[in-house]
Amino acid sequence: MQTRRTQVVVAGAGPVGSVAATYLSRQGIDVILAESAMDSAQDLRASTFHPPTLEMLATLGVTERLIETGLKAPVYHWRDRRSGEILSFDLTEIADVTAYPFRVQCEQYHLSRMLADTLEAEENTQVRFGHRVVYFEQDDTGVDVYLEHATGIEKVRADYLIGADGANSIVRKWLNVEFDGFTYPERFLTLSTAWPIEDALPGLAKVNYVSDPDEWQVLLRVPSLWRVLVPAPEESEAYLLSDEKKNAVFDGIMGDGAAVTTGHRTIYRVHQRVAKRFHKGRVLLVGDAAHLNNPLGGFGMNSGIHDAFNACEKLSAIINDGASADLLDLYDRQRRTVTFDFTQRQTIENMEIMRGGQDEAHERRRDALRILASDPEKRRSYLLRQAMYDSIGQAAAIS
Ligand SMILES: Cc1cc2nc3c(=O)[nH]c(=O)nc-3n(C[C@H](O)[C@H](O)[C@H](O)COP(=O)(O)OP(=O)(O)OC[C@H]3O[C@@H](n4cnc5c(N)ncnc54)[C@H](O)[C@@H]3O)c2cc1C
Repeated sequence: MQTRRTQVVVAGAGPVGSVAATYLSRQGIDVILAESAMDSAQDLRASTFHPPTLEMLATLGVTERLIETGLKAPVYHWRDRRSGEILSFDLTEIADVTAYPFRVQCEQYHLSRMLADTLEAEENTQVRFGHRVVYFEQDDTGVDVYLEHATGIEKVRADYLIGADGANSIVRKWLNVEFDGFTYPERFLTLSTAWPIEDALPGLAKVNYVSDPDEWQVLLRVPSLWRVLVPAPEESEAYLLSDEKKNAVFDGIMGDGAAVTTGHRTIYRVHQRVAKRFHKGRVLLVGDAAHLNNPLGGFGMNSGIHDAFNACEKLSAIINDGASADLLDLYDRQRRTVTFDFTQRQTIENMEIMRGGQDEAHERRRDALRILASDPEKRRSYLLRQAMYDSIGQAAAIS
C-alpha cells in the first residue's frame, strides 16, 4: 500500500473540523481534511454563532460572509408559555467588549461549505470528500491513518490526527476513551417552516426559548425559515413526523396549525456526554467527538469551534516553533474543564428552566431570571456568560 505524507489529518469536515483545517493551513501546515460524506452535510442543526466565535472566525476571514448569509440577532427572549411573560436580553449592552454584539443566525453547513471552498484553493491542503477514516495506529513519531474511499483504502502518515468526526467518532472509539454522561429520555423534534410566525406573535425575537411544563419550544429564525424545536416524549416516530403532530405543534404556537406547511421534520436523540480525555499521544478530539450537550443556548458547535482554535494554536506552536508536546495536555485541561464547568452545567440548567413543572423550583428559577433581566449589572454578567465569554476566560486562566 502506497503511503502519503502530511503533517496533520483532520477527520470530519463538519464546522469544527473545517475550522481546525483552515486554522492549520493558514499557519503553513500541510493538512488533509478527510470527510466520509460526498459533500458538507446540509441537515438542520446548529444555527447560532455567538460573539466570541464570530471574533475567532473573523481571523479566518469568514465572519463577514456569515453575517451576509445569515441574520443578526441582537435580542433573545425567554418566554413563559402559560403566563405570556417575556424576559428580553439584548447583546448590544455588551457592545463595549465585542465588534459583534449579536448572535448570527445561519445554518452550520454554510460555514463548513465556505471553509471547504477556501481550503480547496490552498496548495498545502487537500480536502477529500468521500474519504472515511476507518483506522489509525500511532507511535512516538507519528500516526498512520487509513482512509477508505470508493476504490480502496489509502494510508497516510501524519504527525498528528485530529478527530472532528462527530458524536459517533471512530477516532474516539479507536482511542478507547470513555464517553460518560447520560441520554435524555425524551427525543427532540425539529420542524422548519417558511410560515411567518412573527405575524401571529408580534414582537417575537429571532431567538426565543419558550418554557412550559408540558411542551416547551425553541423558535429560531434563519434567513428563509423559522425552526421550531419541541420535546418528543413517548410517541411513535410515525406519529412525530405526521401532519397530526405538526398541526398540534403549530396550534400551540399560533393556532391553525393545519394551515402551516413544513420543510424539514427531524427527530433527534440528545445526550450530555464528555470524553474522559481530549487527547492521547498524537491524536486529539474536538467538537462533538469530544463532548455532546443539548442545544438549549446554542453551545455545541460554538464550543467545538473554541476547542478547534485552542487545539490548533497549540499544535501550530509544536509543529512550527518546536514547543513542547506537553501543550496538548494543557489543551485537554483547559477545554475539558470548561466543558464540565460551563457547557454541561449551563445546558442542563437551560433544560430545567424550559421543562420544569409549575412547582416551587421552577418558580425559583423564573424569579432568578427575572432578577437577572431587571438588574443592569447582573444582566450584563448573564449576557457575557451566555455569550460564552466566561468560558473562554476560564480556559485561558488554566495553566
Ligand atoms: C437540533 C440541533 C440544534 C443545534 N443547534 C445548535 C446551535 O444553535 N448552536 C450550536 O453551537 N450547536 C448546536 N447544535 C449542536 C451542533 O450541531 C454540533 O455541536 C456540531 O454540529 C458539532 O460539529 P462537529 O464538526 O464537531 O461535528 P459534526 O457536525 O457532526 O461533523 C462531523 C463530520 O464528520 C464526518 N465523519 C464522521 N465520521 C467520519 C469518519 N470516520 N471519517 C471522516 N469523516 C467522518 C461526518 O460526516 C460529519 O461531516 C445543535 C444540534 C442539534 C441536534
